[in-house]
Amino acid sequence: MSVSEQFASDNYSGVCPQAWKAMDEANRVDEAAYGEDSWTQRAADGIRALFDTDCDVYFVFNGTAANSLALASIGQSFHSVICHELAHIETDECGGPEYASNGAKLLLGQGPDGKLTPESIEHLVTKRTDIHYPKPKALSLTQATEVGTIYTPDELRAIRATADQYNLNIHMDGARFANAVAALDVHPSEITWKAGVDVLCFSGTKNGLALGEAVVFFNKRLAEDFEWRCKQAGQLASKMRFISAPWCGLLEDDVWLKNARHANACAERLASGLAGLPGIALRYPREVNGVFVEMPEPIQAALRSKGWRFYNFIGGSARLMCSWATTTERVDQFLADVRELVA
Ligand SMILES: *Cc1c(COP(=O)(O)O)cnc(C)c1O
Repeated sequence: MSVSEQFASDNYSGVCPQAWKAMDEANRVDEAAYGEDSWTQRAADGIRALFDTDCDVYFVFNGTAANSLALASIGQSFHSVICHELAHIETDECGGPEYASNGAKLLLGQGPDGKLTPESIEHLVTKRTDIHYPKPKALSLTQATEVGTIYTPDELRAIRATADQYNLNIHMDGARFANAVAALDVHPSEITWKAGVDVLCFSGTKNGLALGEAVVFFNKRLAEDFEWRCKQAGQLASKMRFISAPWCGLLEDDVWLKNARHANACAERLASGLAGLPGIALRYPREVNGVFVEMPEPIQAALRSKGWRFYNFIGGSARLMCSWATTTERVDQFLADVRELVA
């Protein structure tokens, strides 16, 4: 069986046609290097228009770099960053945020469904205030979370109120920001700057690009000298237009949102098809493009031997991810295989 249209990860998918077309257009004539080109200007303006505010926008290669550099820019080496214990910055970035900030420590909080609560933030901030402990300076929220859930605008505002109380900057890991916007059906500003987010790492890769994440500073003061930070970290693409042109392809006609809606709808089809099958249960509510499901080990093994790929996550549940490229036919094939195995 081919690897295509799998459920292992949204980044198993390829490049969506609109992004590919923009890349092709950007390839026709020479353009200035290092982000001084017209595509990069257009993409950054497009992101400002999308968020309906005058933010500072930078493009980097991947999510680890975006998160690490953004976090490094909103604190000092002696500061700490509060995040959920399941946060990608803690579990999957090989210490990148700590490295980029020359040692800022991550403080791990808890909360149901992968979401930090104001209480857990408050607990971490007030637990120690002495000079021997790294001073909390930032909060990192993943939207949508690593377990496929979303922070509502109300939840974000409640967290902002706590952050205000303790003078914390808010970073948002938006690896699946598009999926969260699609699921909540809100304007992107409602879950970012209007809810007090200072900097957003907005993923293009998981939405349908080959590569490229936008680091969006709503709090422009924090972006001071960010371009030097990117350059030093090896994140300034010389042929920047091949990151920014595909972004233009995503932004035009809200392709980013259509891609996310499609991925979310495929996950919903998968979740409702699995619901109620004997021995199978959802581990987390299905809110975006991932379905986390408890399945007996022999069923998982049988699915894998049929060629299906998916990761095990958090206590062994199977993580099934959908992308812009997932087809309903593949979802239905997977469901048919599961039904046959549980029968
Ligand atoms: C995929 C992902 C990232 C980015 O990962 P890279 O592999 O560095 O691009 C960041 N945060 C979350 C929650 C992710 O799922």
